[in-house]
Amino acid sequence: MKIQMKTPLVEMDGDEMTRILWKQIKDILLEPYIDLKTEYYDLSLDERERTKDQVTIDAANANKRLGVAVKCATITPNAQRQKEYNLTQMWKSPNGTIRAILDGTVFRKPIMVKGITPCVRNWEKPITIARHAFGDVYRDSEIRVNQPGIAKLIFEAESGEQIVEEIARFTGPGVLQGQFNKDDSIESFSRSCFEFALSSHQDLWFSTKDTISKTYDHRFKDIFQNIYDREYKDKFESAGLEYFYTLIDDAVARIIRSKGGMIWACKNYDGDVMSDMVSTAFGSLAMMTSVLVSPEGNYEYEAAHGTVTRHYYKYLQGEETSTNPVATIFAWTGALKKRGELDHLDDLIAFANHLEQATLQTIEEGEMTGDLITLFHNPQVEAKKLNSRQFLEAIAKRLLVLQVTKA
Ligand code: NAP
Ligand code: MG
Repeated sequence: MKIQMKTPLVEMDGDEMTRILWKQIKDILLEPYIDLKTEYYDLSLDERERTKDQVTIDAANANKRLGVAVKCATITPNAQRQKEYNLTQMWKSPNGTIRAILDGTVFRKPIMVKGITPCVRNWEKPITIARHAFGDVYRDSEIRVNQPGIAKLIFEAESGEQIVEEIARFTGPGVLQGQFNKDDSIESFSRSCFEFALSSHQDLWFSTKDTISKTYDHRFKDIFQNIYDREYKDKFESAGLEYFYTLIDDAVARIIRSKGGMIWACKNYDGDVMSDMVSTAFGSLAMMTSVLVSPEGNYEYEAAHGTVTRHYYKYLQGEETSTNPVATIFAWTGALKKRGELDHLDDLIAFANHLEQATLQTIEEGEMTGDLITLFHNPQVEAKKLNSRQFLEAIAKRLLVLQVTKA
């Protein structure tokens, strides 16, 4: 009998190559074992266009209602995509919309396998990036200036008080950007980081550019320090863990020289960029887990990479592609494990662990997608390049063994 679920997962389907992998993962790895219960939202660009992006908002609200979601990579349209997909609007990034509704923090951690060593030789343990998922440049307002004039930053309080800061005097064309963040979002960001550090028993580093941004970034630094001193100092000390703040320039240098094994908390943009750098240095963008944890305890699991457009165009021409599905598989296993924890379904948790184990074992035994071939080095094992489907089937073989020996 298949594994039964209680509460449905929120399933957010996506675009291009990852949409193809999504279906294959369900067909080859999940549905043979699980009576998969999901509330399905199609976040493909066509469907976002058809619903005027309402489907993204509905999916995020479903995530709030049901607690756990799994999301496929989606296209964030730019001008070129607007033409390609005949869009009435350049719809916002679905991840941005979902994060704005859920708030919270994105934790990204490289998936380490034997045979693939990080580019940075001294990294022995994974580095988890904790990315604030609200505000800053992701919720900014921008103006293209076309003529001379004065730009001002104005805050109008409900009380009638006004604060006005001159930003710049333009003598010719230029650009302008307004950003914001909120104390309560930064507070919950800090708490998710402190909680995650304690529960995963890792040190926590936090960095911003407070020497340059003396009000904005400095506020982040102060909030972290206040919450740490008030709520977490004792817990960290008794767990033998460390929290410290440092300037982002210094953090970058120290991270590179470190052995890894810490959580590095970053503002929204820093976290976006640094997680790509860290995952690539650990091996590949496709070898990284990513989960959004909201302050109310809602979880959204996803892959950190995009829709792999270049491979999709090849796929459309009938070519077999060797696209790496590992991050998308781990999005599913993360979501299934969390659902299993919340609903007390031990067999679902065990299944998800087996699927992760089978995936890593497949690579460690030399069967992998093209992106990993050049990175893999183990004198005892010959690396063989598989296409995506063959790779999923190679995992399925090992999964079957694990599931059967367990029973
Ligand atoms: P991408 O899809 O991450 O791919 C960039 C390149 O990285 C690929 O061409 C490929 O390199 C390699 N790569 C990434 N994932 C891979 C995988 N699973 N297996 C093998 N190789 C992989 O980024 P992009 O091409 O810049 O963006 C494509 C679309 O994704 C855009 O429309 C963007 O808006 C969207 N996007 C979505 C998300 C999200 O939903 N979370 C995140 C980022 C981007 P090679 O070509 O050298 O093989
Ligand atoms: Mg990114």
